[in-house]
Amino acid sequence: MKKLLSLLTCLIFIIQMQAQQLPKVIILATGGTIAGVGTSSTSAGYTAGKIPIDDLIGAIPAVKKLANITGEQISSIGSQDMTIDIWKKLAVRINQIYANHEANAVVITHGTDTQEETAYFLDLVVPSDMPVVLTGSMRSSTAISADGPKNLYDAITVAIDPKTKGRGVLVSFNEGIFDAREVMKMSTSFTNAFGSPNTGAVGHAFDSKVEYYSKAEREVNTTFKITADTKLPVVDIVYMYAGAPAANIDDMIARKVDGIVIAGVGNGNFNTAYMDAVKRAVAAGIIVCRASRAPSGRVVLHDEINDDELGTIVSDDLTPQKARIMLMLGLTQTKDKAQLQKYFFQY
Ligand code: GLU
Repeated sequence: MKKLLSLLTCLIFIIQMQAQQLPKVIILATGGTIAGVGTSSTSAGYTAGKIPIDDLIGAIPAVKKLANITGEQISSIGSQDMTIDIWKKLAVRINQIYANHEANAVVITHGTDTQEETAYFLDLVVPSDMPVVLTGSMRSSTAISADGPKNLYDAITVAIDPKTKGRGVLVSFNEGIFDAREVMKMSTSFTNAFGSPNTGAVGHAFDSKVEYYSKAEREVNTTFKITADTKLPVVDIVYMYAGAPAANIDDMIARKVDGIVIAGVGNGNFNTAYMDAVKRAVAAGIIVCRASRAPSGRVVLHDEINDDELGTIVSDDLTPQKARIMLMLGLTQTKDKAQLQKYFFQY
């Protein structure tokens, strides 16, 4: 009996030692379909953000062999309701986790709708060698063949892989790994919902292994800093389409926004009604950035439009929703157009 007891104690000690050696991962949960509950296992309808993070972790027991995981519920929303306040909360908490050495890696569960925006915002305000990996799912937790558990498991393998350090914020989804700057939701309903139209995935998570095939070129350690008190300037996006009226931009001028991003056509182009309204916006001291509604390619400075003459800047290859984030953060530091433009080419 005594022998059995000491054997048992020994075993518990070994298990505890092993657990201590495992990397520590904190999952920050924000909601989304991954935490969604459906009306039935076969229908696509569901309510996002219902399942608490501990239940999501409980659905992937295999992960206990990889890491010591704890979860924190930051919000319980569908990501169409994502806000700047939640972005700040995430940024502040992540920087605190790393400053206090609370974990080796951070994973964020997030709805897919605005996942690319949160990823890019965090990419710009969290130092790059701190692994931050976002994931989510396209099928709710109660659906047949729910993709959430696999995506979460993969995201954890990505987050703890030593090769992930220094790559900035990543999105791990459907076995693809995507750079925060490049990633975009490409499908409203397919499980391979994400892609990077300009560059492709940087790697893959498969069979509990992580492989990278390319690395993003842009600097990921920016000068942008976020605290709970940071007030972000107001930057709005206006869409260009055939026959778009100037009022779309004049409304923004009247609201005295700090910046306007135009989701232009083609190479960041717009009609004469917008052209005149842009001149009024620039004269009012608003920073206007030309982006494109096209999913890939760049908006080129002084190409079809002379930006120096018009007083505009360009998004480079950032989508309008990411150009907005860049402009908001840039405007926390300067109103100088040349410097703002430099950020777009640098980060
Ligand atoms: N619209 C919800 C969201 O983005 C659900 C979509 C999803 O998570 O895939 O949170």
